[in-house]
Amino acid sequence: MEATKNIIELCDGDIDKTFRKKQIYDAVFKKGVIDFAAISTIPKDLRNGLSQKFHILEVKEAARKESLDGTVKFLFKLHDGKYIESVFLIDKNNHVTFCISSQVGCRMGCVFCKTGTMGLLRNLSATEILSEVLYLYHFMAAEKGLKNQLFNIVYMGMGEPLDNFDNVMESVSLITNSAFFGLSASRITISTCGLVDKIDSALRRFPTLRFALSLNHSIQEEREKIMPIAKKISLDEIAVKLKKLYAEFKNRFTLEYVLIKNVNMNKKEIDAMQRFHHQAFHINLIPLNHSDDLVKRPEEKEIAYFMQELERRHFCVTRRYRRGADIDAACGELCYKENLDA
Ligand code: SAH
Ligand code: SF4
Repeated sequence: MEATKNIIELCDGDIDKTFRKKQIYDAVFKKGVIDFAAISTIPKDLRNGLSQKFHILEVKEAARKESLDGTVKFLFKLHDGKYIESVFLIDKNNHVTFCISSQVGCRMGCVFCKTGTMGLLRNLSATEILSEVLYLYHFMAAEKGLKNQLFNIVYMGMGEPLDNFDNVMESVSLITNSAFFGLSASRITISTCGLVDKIDSALRRFPTLRFALSLNHSIQEEREKIMPIAKKISLDEIAVKLKKLYAEFKNRFTLEYVLIKNVNMNKKEIDAMQRFHHQAFHINLIPLNHSDDLVKRPEEKEIAYFMQELERRHFCVTRRYRRGADIDAACGELCYKENLDA
C-alpha cells in the first residue's frame, strides 16, 4: 500500500486525457467504487495501470458489528498494523451520519472515556480520515443501497480532533472539495474537549463548520477532576470565547454533557450551568454508556430530573439516545484492545 500513491494525487500526466480524472473521481467519490477494476467508465488497460501506481483506500476493514437499530461499527486496520473504529449511523428517516476517528488513541485522559485510557499512539493523516469517510460511503451505496445519499460527519470517534489540527483541517478541505465529496462544511461537526483557540482558527478557514464542545461539568474544579485538559483551559475562557465566536460567525455550539451518577448531576451543577445560558449554546445530554469502578451510569429518573430542571430554566436541551448500544458502538466505547495487542 505504501509504495503506491493515493488516488487524490492523480495528475494529468498519469492519465491520457484530462476528463478521465473526473471520470475516476466521480466513480470513487460519487458512486462509492473502491476498486479500480470496477470503474467501468474507463478502459480496462487504464484500470490495470492505475492499480499498479495508485491506491484508493488507506484503511482495511478488519471486522464489523451490526446493531439491531441499524448502526454498524467498523474496525479498520491501518498500514502500520494499528486499528481505529468508525461508525455508520442511520435513523428511521434514513438520515445517515458517519462517526469517524481522528487519532489512534487520545492523550487527553478523560476519566470516563475508554479511548482516553490508551494514550495517544499516533495522529491519523488527512488521507486516512478521508478513507474512513470513503469506506462508509461505499458501504452506504453498495450495501445499504443508498446511492447519491447526503450524509453528515461527526468527528466523535477515537481521538481529540483539534489535537491533530493540521491533518483534521486538511481532511475537511478534502471532504468539502468539489472534486471529491463536495460535502458542505455545515454537515461536518468536530467534537472537542475544549481547545477553543483551535475552534477560532478552524472557523476562520471554514466559517460554516460546526463544533461540539464536550463540557461534561459546569464547575471548574470538578471538571478538572474528570477532564485533565480543564486545568489548561478554564470554563470562563471557554464561555467567553465561544460567545464571541457566535457573535461573529452566527454558528451555534453544541455542549455535550455526559451524565455521570453522583458526579455532575446535582443542583449545584445545574446552577453553575447558568454561564452557558445563552443563544450560542444547545445542550446535548449523553447518559454515560458504561459503568465501571470509577464512574457509574445514572438511573432513568435521575436523567429525567436533570433534563427537566434545565428545561424549566429555559435551556435549549436535548437528550441523545444510545445508538448501537448492543454492539459497543456508543461514544467512548470505541475499543482499544486490538491496539494494545498489535
Ligand atoms: N475528543 C473529542 C471527540 C471524541 S469523544 C471530545 O472529547 O469531544 C466524543 C464524545 O463522547 C464526547 O462528547 C465525550 O464526552 C463522549 N464520551 C466519552 N466517553 C463517554 C462515555 N463513556 N459515555 C458517553 N459519552 C462519552
Ligand atoms: Fe479524548 Fe474525547 Fe475521550 Fe477525552 S472524551 S479522552 S478528549 S476522546
